[in-house]
Amino acid sequence: MPISFYDFANLHHEEFKVKIKQRLNDIIDKNSFIEGEYNSKFEEKFAQLQKSKHCLLVANGTDALEIALTAYGIGPGDRVGVPGITFYATAEAVINRGATPIWIDIQPEDGLLCPESLKRMHAKYDLQAVMPVHIYGLPAPMEEINQFCHSQGILVIEDAAQAQGTFYKEGSPVGDTDNLVTFSFYPTKNLSAFGDAGGILTRDDRLKERIIVNRNHGRGDEQHVGRNSRCDHIQAAVLYTKLEEIEKFNEQRKKIAVKFHKALKETPLKTLPEKYLPLSSWHLYPTQLESISLREGLMEYLKKKGIPSAPFYDKALSQEGGLLKYKGEDTHAKNFAGKTLCLPMTPFITDEEIEFIVSEIKNFFSS
Ligand SMILES: *Cc1c(COP(=O)(O)O)cnc(C)c1O
Repeated sequence: MPISFYDFANLHHEEFKVKIKQRLNDIIDKNSFIEGEYNSKFEEKFAQLQKSKHCLLVANGTDALEIALTAYGIGPGDRVGVPGITFYATAEAVINRGATPIWIDIQPEDGLLCPESLKRMHAKYDLQAVMPVHIYGLPAPMEEINQFCHSQGILVIEDAAQAQGTFYKEGSPVGDTDNLVTFSFYPTKNLSAFGDAGGILTRDDRLKERIIVNRNHGRGDEQHVGRNSRCDHIQAAVLYTKLEEIEKFNEQRKKIAVKFHKALKETPLKTLPEKYLPLSSWHLYPTQLESISLREGLMEYLKKKGIPSAPFYDKALSQEGGLLKYKGEDTHAKNFAGKTLCLPMTPFITDEEIEFIVSEIKNFFSS
């Protein structure tokens, strides 16, 4: 049996399927397709789980970033710090708002936004906002970032698309903050819909109202033009149903990460700092190799053995075609990209599979 990179068969097990089919039937029978009971049920329970106050469901994770920027009043003429290692959408949201992304370099050991680079880029470009990304599920260094941003009046939006299940520190999940925090519930994320969905967390009642107006055509506020970024009832029902098992599944990911971390010590692969083992959501399990060519070689070798792996992210954002004209710092981001290889990480990987993956990695290096 080949190993899965995203194991939908185990995620959508029989018991889950019976329950969700019943709920979807109900939705069809009631003709209740938009903003139904599961939307508000999910929003309430998710805000609680993440120790925030309000959760607002939207259509996807990129809209969540754009709407968060809109709620903060960020638009044309503004400059927003974006880390060099993240998914394209983080920068895309800034550009679609008419603002300009400024590259903030990463910490070389973990790919997370570097607070020192943030300080330098603010001195040079006068940032109005910054978007730290909890990339792979690792918590960005929020204490230092918050301290600096609050002292300078820089608005903070945390891109937590990969960080459902991440903790800043013990007892404090992503969302336990006064910043706006955004999620994607795309099918491959830790908490996932049957299509597109996203969410925004806030503790601010006024920001909550702005987001509600903005996501539904500006309804409720004649002064403002909004957009359509509603989350449909079917996706909300799927998300609400999956909340029942999400903490269990995230715990399983953490246990698997610990096992990989120990076993990979016997290989030349570099793992992420140990301090993240109990904190990360382990959305992905990134490792680092010495060079791009070694990474390509290992990827090919593993593929032949039925082990999928993925080079997230093989470029710094500053190196992506559509983004070349933007400025900032990217030395460490460029170096980090290209050397990273993500091994299979789902809540369902068995001890035998871990052993097999690690032994094939050893075989590659000894051949
Ligand atoms: C998935 C992802 C997004 C975008 O989410 P969509 O739901 O695909 O729009 C944004 N940022 C990061 C870091 C992501 O991983």
